Amino acid sequence: MRADLGFAIRRLTESADGLIFWRFPTAGLLNRERESIVISAIMPTYARADLAFVRGEGPYLFDADGRKYLDFASGIAVTTLGHNHPKLVEALRTAAEGVWHTSNLVRIPTQEALAEILVANTFADTVFFGNSGAEALECCIKVARKFQSAGGNPERYRIITFEGAFHGRTLATLAAGNQKKHLDGFGPPVDGFDQVPFGDVAAVEQVISSETAAILVEPIQGESGVRVSPDSFLPALRQIADKADLLLMFDEVQSGVGRTGRLFAHEHWGVTPDVMAVAKALGGGLPIGACLATERAAQGMVAGSHGSTFGGNPIATAVGLAVMKEVTRPGFLEAVRRSADALHQGLEKLRAKHGNKIAEVRGKGLFVGLRCTGDPNVVIAELRARGMLSVVAGDNVVRLLPPLIIDQSHIEEALAKLDDALSATSF
Ligand SMILES: *Cc1c(COP(=O)(O)O)cnc(C)c1O
Repeated sequence: MRADLGFAIRRLTESADGLIFWRFPTAGLLNRERESIVISAIMPTYARADLAFVRGEGPYLFDADGRKYLDFASGIAVTTLGHNHPKLVEALRTAAEGVWHTSNLVRIPTQEALAEILVANTFADTVFFGNSGAEALECCIKVARKFQSAGGNPERYRIITFEGAFHGRTLATLAAGNQKKHLDGFGPPVDGFDQVPFGDVAAVEQVISSETAAILVEPIQGESGVRVSPDSFLPALRQIADKADLLLMFDEVQSGVGRTGRLFAHEHWGVTPDVMAVAKALGGGLPIGACLATERAAQGMVAGSHGSTFGGNPIATAVGLAVMKEVTRPGFLEAVRRSADALHQGLEKLRAKHGNKIAEVRGKGLFVGLRCTGDPNVVIAELRARGMLSVVAGDNVVRLLPPLIIDQSHIEEALAKLDDALSATSF
């Protein structure tokens, strides 16, 4: 940017409630004016609501006009402890005054502490840190392939996945999810995934070949409509994996870190995986992802086998550690389960009252889906007009993903807003 052009017109503006925005007219903007470029400066890959928030407090978000929204979206299951949580703010402030980045060429104390607390509270013996859910899944896929090749079976690289799955938007995780709408136009999908219907044990057994390395499954499918694993499904997969020497891998990017009232959703079924992907809620709003594994599953992951420049950086892991300490604090998950029971009871009453619009209440804990008899976006818009945020999912589902810190008053507020929104909905 030329000093005379760029910085001379850089200006400071103040919004209504005193928040300061710096505006930088960029070279891109000037190009747009000259060459009549119509694409937005942000690559238009999202269908965004015309909403922006400037402040958050607990389960509430506020826009620049001071309008208050009850946040039952949590940035898609990310801000688990709500907004502006004092312990997270404190952890971030301390981290910000320390060392921001050193790379994984040296030790990172907060990364070690976060790995220790994850290992202490799960099946896992070891953790790799990345920056997102998709990266966590990429690591899971690599761990599975390397496990087999290090064990003398390099031909075993294929992974069994399930219809309706969502594992991320990188090329390999897209192939794992196998959603046509996501793969379309991006060339040949990455090889090595065999997809069968969700919940279908016989189909899993049938598709296993001499090239199969692992099974990858979400205990609760999020994006395709909060579809909960049938009761006997995960235990059956555990047995199949053990018998065929496959790794069992759970994608708990959305269901993990307390969302279902257990630290991880698979605890509801009493089975443990060999490998697990975690992300979304782990950073409380900062980008972080983790691949957890048993010592045996990670047998091939030696120095040089995988890496990430930013993965496990001091800032994200400091906040992740604060999140994990809070969620594993005695009594925390019991409170989540109590809130979840109250929410589900209220939602069942609403389903009875609005049975022509709500066909089913799904989910576990505070991972909730309302299957609608029509377009869920209508309900979501009615909720938004009443100051409440929710998230759409497949199968006509409105997803409710409140922060885990909600109390009875927030539940009552949400139920009242839902009641109003459903009364106003016609489909
Ligand atoms: C969100 C999500 C991912 C992808 O996470 P990103 O951080 O967007 O890469 C993967 N798996 C599941 C189950 C998810 O919900």
